[in-house]
Amino acid sequence: MKRLVPLCTLLLCVFGCSKSPGPRLIAITIDDAPVTKPLSYSDNWERTVVTDSLTRALVRHAAPATVFAIGSDLENPDLATLVRNWTDAGFLMANHSMSHRSFNQLTREAGVLEIGQAQAVLSRVAPVDHRSRYFRFPFLEEGVSLNDRAFWYGVLDSMALEAAPVTITTDDWRFDNEYAEAEAAEDWDRRYRIGQEYVAHVRESVRHWDGLGGQLYGRNVRHILMLHANRINRDYLGVILEGLAEDGFAFISLPAALEDKLYAENVTWIGPSGVSVLESIKQSRLVAGSFATR
Ligand SMILES: [Zn+2]
Repeated sequence: MKRLVPLCTLLLCVFGCSKSPGPRLIAITIDDAPVTKPLSYSDNWERTVVTDSLTRALVRHAAPATVFAIGSDLENPDLATLVRNWTDAGFLMANHSMSHRSFNQLTREAGVLEIGQAQAVLSRVAPVDHRSRYFRFPFLEEGVSLNDRAFWYGVLDSMALEAAPVTITTDDWRFDNEYAEAEAAEDWDRRYRIGQEYVAHVRESVRHWDGLGGQLYGRNVRHILMLHANRINRDYLGVILEGLAEDGFAFISLPAALEDKLYAENVTWIGPSGVSVLESIKQSRLVAGSFATR
């Protein structure tokens, strides 16, 4: 019996002293709304199939997604009507710039117009109670220097807007290109294969970025996943949300995700192209010599 005392103490410590990693939480964001590459569809009915499939999947999983729209698309009356498909289903529309050009290549004057004009279009098209205060930089590119980024953030602030970073990026746009090609060629076997590969790719992306979040913070971080309003998600968003739920994720809003202190960490690194904020944090810590698990 003497041996049992330290053993019990050890067991108590394992179950009582170890810190819980916390709940697994994720916000879904959908970019390039109302639909990606709108002119690749023959009519508005085909586009409606995309918006309605996406909203149905999100509603079914009670995922309060934020939807980022490209302003110039909304100047087309057909596309503007599709905003209602999103907002009537309860989703918030947000600013994804006027023409979706990279802010790494814009002059400051042009960038200010990109944000302001898109906001004006959104104000005309989206009901006031379904407008979000968030802005998503096209390609997640926020300028080529810390000065640039500070400037853009200042512009957003002056317009009462806020940047919406991403923790989980995927190549859904690349899979969608191939998926659309297979669909146009009516090669259904190939389209199915691409769909299956896509689902596996998203799962691997989530695993990768969730692993880095855990490595950086020693707990589950509140994720923001970026996907696009495209054909492959028309058919697979439901499967992806189902997989996330099976993996223990609960769906939260973008503002709720941004309450995680990770989004307030000082980022001093800017990469050559847009990346997950977790990669920027990791690189910032590497530069500072402080990359370590917490
Ligand atoms: Zn985009």
